[in-house]
Amino acid sequence: MEIEPILLPGVDNKRPIVIAGPCSAETEEQVMETAKQLAERNVKIFRAGIWKPRTKPGGFEGIGVDGLKWLQRVKAETGMYVSTEVATEKHVFEALKHNVDILWIGARTSANPFAMQEIADALKGVDIPVLVKNPVNPDIELWIGALERLNNAGIKRLGAIHRGFSTYDKKIYRNQPQWNLPIELRRRLPNLPIICDPSHIGGKRELIAPLCQQAMDLGFDGLIVESHCNPDKAWSDASQQVTPAILEYILNMLVIRDTQQSTENLAELRKQIDSIDNDLLEMLAKRMRVSREIGTYKKEHNVQVLQAERYDEIMQKRVILGETLGMSGEFVKTYLEAVHAESVRQQLEIVNNK
Ligand code: PEP
Ligand code: MN
Repeated sequence: MEIEPILLPGVDNKRPIVIAGPCSAETEEQVMETAKQLAERNVKIFRAGIWKPRTKPGGFEGIGVDGLKWLQRVKAETGMYVSTEVATEKHVFEALKHNVDILWIGARTSANPFAMQEIADALKGVDIPVLVKNPVNPDIELWIGALERLNNAGIKRLGAIHRGFSTYDKKIYRNQPQWNLPIELRRRLPNLPIICDPSHIGGKRELIAPLCQQAMDLGFDGLIVESHCNPDKAWSDASQQVTPAILEYILNMLVIRDTQQSTENLAELRKQIDSIDNDLLEMLAKRMRVSREIGTYKKEHNVQVLQAERYDEIMQKRVILGETLGMSGEFVKTYLEAVHAESVRQQLEIVNNK
């Protein structure tokens, strides 16, 4: 993919690039007041949803085209760039007609190749930055596919927004971060700017600061944060919005560490990691060989491959050991489940091999 890493002329590419503004444009006063307070705090890119994709009908579905005029006022009166979400060809045409500077694609839209193609076709021949949120489901190919459709239509100023992934089981986060996905995206498309959306990942105000810091520590390029002049009264996503003053405070607290990690120490530590990873893989292969021997035994003695009690016992003991060694039980469990699944697969191969 041919990607132009500078999203906007005049916006310093120094980390973090900050995009802020309300979840939704609600009224002209709310948009102007929030924008003014953000511009005073040196935010250069304003966000506001004009069309809102709601999980269920009946919620606030966005103010529509009228709100685009307010965004034009924001541009004229604060000098900020403005951005909004587009999900259809009509949204694209309206946004372009009203000189929106940056478009973003929502998580429900990037998950839909038909919608993505429609948007890409509507953008043919237009030079505008487009940010693509991860699809609601953790599918990196779908995320890259959405970016590729835009790129094939000639969009070069592309970026990704990591907003977490929907799960049935909502624990701490509204959307599970699954940081490995944006990290894999960085590996696959090293020039693509990646922006973190702590508001939609966290779903609550108090998680915004730690998520912003984590994103910076992982080398993200920017942050898109929902900010509202009166968050408690917001018409959508009230619990995750912060005032411009709080946002300023959060941004000032961030510790931005150097991304150029070329010190000798680091190189030495990396070598150690590489070598440990190789050892781990060799040990795993050895474990699989033993597992296959057990498979041969099970085949000869006509024993069922999956022995639930044995699996349960392994899990419990290892999770406790892992926790004693300073790892999270959740991590040890995930790891063991993966190892066990591969073990079962290998044993089945043997048992079913005539
Ligand atoms: C939003 O940015 O307000 C939004 C609807 O986000 P997402 O597409 O990530 O759910
Ligand atoms: Mn929102």
